[in-house]
Amino acid sequence: MMFRPSSFAAAAAVVAAALLATPASEAAAPMARGDNPGYYRMLLGDFQVTALSDGSHVFPVDTVMIDTTQEQVAAALARDDLALPIQGSINAFLVNTGSKLVLIDTGAGALYGPCCGKLLDNLRAAGYRPEQVDEVLLTHLHKDHVGGVLHDGKIAFPNAVIRVARTDADYWRSRTRRDAAPEFLRSFFDSADAALAPYEAAGRLRPFSGDVELLPGIRSVAEPGHTPGHTAYLVESRGQKLLLWGDIVHVAPVQLADPRAALKYDSSDKDAQRARAALFARAAAEHFWIGAAHVSFPGLGHVARDGDRYRWVPANYEAAPGSGL
Ligand SMILES: [Zn+2]
Repeated sequence: MMFRPSSFAAAAAVVAAALLATPASEAAAPMARGDNPGYYRMLLGDFQVTALSDGSHVFPVDTVMIDTTQEQVAAALARDDLALPIQGSINAFLVNTGSKLVLIDTGAGALYGPCCGKLLDNLRAAGYRPEQVDEVLLTHLHKDHVGGVLHDGKIAFPNAVIRVARTDADYWRSRTRRDAAPEFLRSFFDSADAALAPYEAAGRLRPFSGDVELLPGIRSVAEPGHTPGHTAYLVESRGQKLLLWGDIVHVAPVQLADPRAALKYDSSDKDAQRARAALFARAAAEHFWIGAAHVSFPGLGHVARDGDRYRWVPANYEAAPGSGL
């Protein structure tokens, strides 16, 4: 059939009229509800690493930062087009070495309210079950890292051993330290003790000291300051390295610009500053992966030098790691 411009134009006009006549109510979908996806996988050599979101919370960073100024905080947030209060991510990381399933940090559990405590749901969504976890490594014993070892007041990981630096376990479980601590920190001691007690009673709390190989491919790296026993974990497979650095950073735009900026929750702000500055320099020079508890989810990326400061370079998103071409 021959193409006839006049009839084509007429047909197009009819279609256009029909589209214009569509009532608006038929086009408007109700707003969808529910959380954003809360897991992200990557490969590290032979290991599979899954970042798990525990949620995000309203974070009034201007009220918790010390060793900086309100002007510096405001300028750093403005550079990243952020306004107060920002959202603070709580991330944990699941490492499947092929022979062990290892969870690094556990989120807040019930301790931060409905914003958070989503780790178990996201672990299941990622294709795992809590009973498959062999070891739980804790970077430190603050609520948003240890709270998730319990679910409904009971052991959340029924087959797991809990590993934590002995220095942190001794500190946060000390009644004397608790009573000497500032009021705003006392519930941290109570929560840490309540979280660990059921595992200890079951003979499954195993503290360690210093820098040790905990499992093939996973080492502890003492980074005291944020807490007395604050520990990073270095994961390595086939020469690829990922440092799960816990709470080295709470507010990336501010602290990457100035590693001296600290948190009022730091046990020793001076030690935390030293640890942060040294780690930034090393991470930027050696280009290893970082997994961060409080950088926007998934908290996987690199640290790069940017003139006289540093910047966070998020992981290049990969929809299906390991699926090939
Ligand atoms: Zn912390």
